[in-house]
Amino acid sequence: MHFSSIIASSLVGWTAHAASITKVVARDNPSAEFAETLLKQSKSCCNVMDQFLPGKVLFPDNALYATSQQSFWSMQEVDLTPTCIVSPSSANDVAVGVLILSVGDKLGITDCNFAVRSGGHTPWGGAANIDEGVTFDLQSLNQVDIASDRKTASIGPGNRWRNIYPKLDAVGLAMVGGRVAPVGAGGLILGGGISYFSPRKGFSCDNVVNFQVVVAPGVILDANKDKNADLFKALKGGSNNFGIVTRFDVSIFEQGELWGGTVITDVSQMDKINEFFEGFAASDGYDEYASLITTYGFSNTSSPWVHSSNVIYTKPEENPPVYRGLTSLPQLLNTTRISTLAPLTEEIAASTEVAMQGRYYFSTLSYINSAAYMKAFFELCDEWQKTVSDVEGLFGAVTYQPIPKAITSKGAKQGGNVLGLDNAPDIVNALLGVSWANKADDERINASLKDLYTKAKAKCVEMEVDHPYVYLNYALPWDKPIAGYGEANVAFLKKTSKKYDYAGLFQRRCPGGFKLDD
Ligand SMILES: Cc1cc2nc3c(=O)[nH]c(=O)nc-3n(C[C@H](O)[C@H](O)[C@H](O)COP(=O)(O)OP(=O)(O)OC[C@H]3O[C@@H](n4cnc5c(N)ncnc54)[C@H](O)[C@@H]3O)c2cc1C
Repeated sequence: MHFSSIIASSLVGWTAHAASITKVVARDNPSAEFAETLLKQSKSCCNVMDQFLPGKVLFPDNALYATSQQSFWSMQEVDLTPTCIVSPSSANDVAVGVLILSVGDKLGITDCNFAVRSGGHTPWGGAANIDEGVTFDLQSLNQVDIASDRKTASIGPGNRWRNIYPKLDAVGLAMVGGRVAPVGAGGLILGGGISYFSPRKGFSCDNVVNFQVVVAPGVILDANKDKNADLFKALKGGSNNFGIVTRFDVSIFEQGELWGGTVITDVSQMDKINEFFEGFAASDGYDEYASLITTYGFSNTSSPWVHSSNVIYTKPEENPPVYRGLTSLPQLLNTTRISTLAPLTEEIAASTEVAMQGRYYFSTLSYINSAAYMKAFFELCDEWQKTVSDVEGLFGAVTYQPIPKAITSKGAKQGGNVLGLDNAPDIVNALLGVSWANKADDERINASLKDLYTKAKAKCVEMEVDHPYVYLNYALPWDKPIAGYGEANVAFLKKTSKKYDYAGLFQRRCPGGFKLDD
């Protein structure tokens, strides 16, 4: 029997004993003993994984290693060089990898640090890639299986929305996923997930009915409302702190065409746009079919600030009343039309791919819905932009996204999440997305964004619109998104981590992303 089959079969036995998982140590497993022998000889997790998962472990001399590296969104991630990249094609492969890492951890082997990536769309270096360690590239876990009752679908974490939506569109179905076609499913769902359908259905994570997840030391579990319910809740916002998710079973629903597109106006309309936005984002009479992303963007090579709003109504109704405050303004461009979902997510992708494979950062905060703060945040970004306008290839986009009670109130009814927003007021996510050309400017941009963030936060406090929520999927390494979930949620997450990852493998050996003690 092949090594990986030996491990896989013993893992099946382990899975049956998931209830006593805290008592499981790698030494109890015969395959773990074998892995330990090999690890003691080679002192390398990559080399041992290569023996257990032949053809699925890529070293830098393999052309597929470069292909995987080049498929990250930002150059900061591409710049890192893992010792090897593991490309699993099943949950069992992932379980074998996590078992070897657990044993390697016990032996104190240095190259047994690891990173987990799905679509690779987090901008900052080290979120989903690693220097001198193992990167799990989950892109081959990309199934989209629609259940015959049309109520759920099983989605591989390595999918991009570009792969999922056309399949659902083709049969008149949809799921609560991302709004931009090339982004990955895995990271987006585990960090929350804001969708065009969120006002109707909640965050993407609220619409998962079961996670298949590999926890340390290499055990495949299901987490749902009946089984491992604490882990089920913890994964809804808990990102990579508990294990590697190998399948999401998600709710799907009947969905016909939508109306939407992009409305571009002169920036001189800003006061009217902000006033419209504040009214739109308020719960009072919120139209749950409507969503909105309002952006003020600039480039230091071509254009001064320009306004664009992405409007999507999840019914095929032309220019519904909820958008009239915007669509009645004089416009430079309007692409709205009736369409299925996939083309709308490709249209918005085109604007994010302008500076493809550049260097990127996001800087984000939440504030309580207010047109006055919207303007104040823009003014701070405008001041910031002048301090870095000589940076080569600089693009910036100041984006506002409503997170009304219509979105935040849904989670508790669907098994709960850990985002800490169950009783939140109507908040807005403010995001400055920046891209630039050269690595030499990384530190300057980073420091300037830190300074901007400090000023923007102080302004929130001064204007009494401050809110502690930091959207994890837009956060930078110095943000504290998990602390922003609130003390009770952090305590719950830590307790759940102790139960499912007793040795703390995902806290100590998987440094990327946001850890529970951050
Ligand atoms: C152009 C663009 C558009 C975006 N649009 C949206 C949007 O519409 N809505 C929205 O909510 N967000 C959006 N985002 C933010 C997006 O949610 C995050 O970038 C998210 O991390 C992307 O998921 P990914 O799988 O590509 O991430 P990755 O970078 O691969 O992973 C992100 C984090 O999740 C962890 N992780 C990934 N997969 C797994 C797994 N299977 N198991 C355990 N841990 C895992 C990684 O270790 C990493 O720390 C957008 C981002 C970009 C760049």
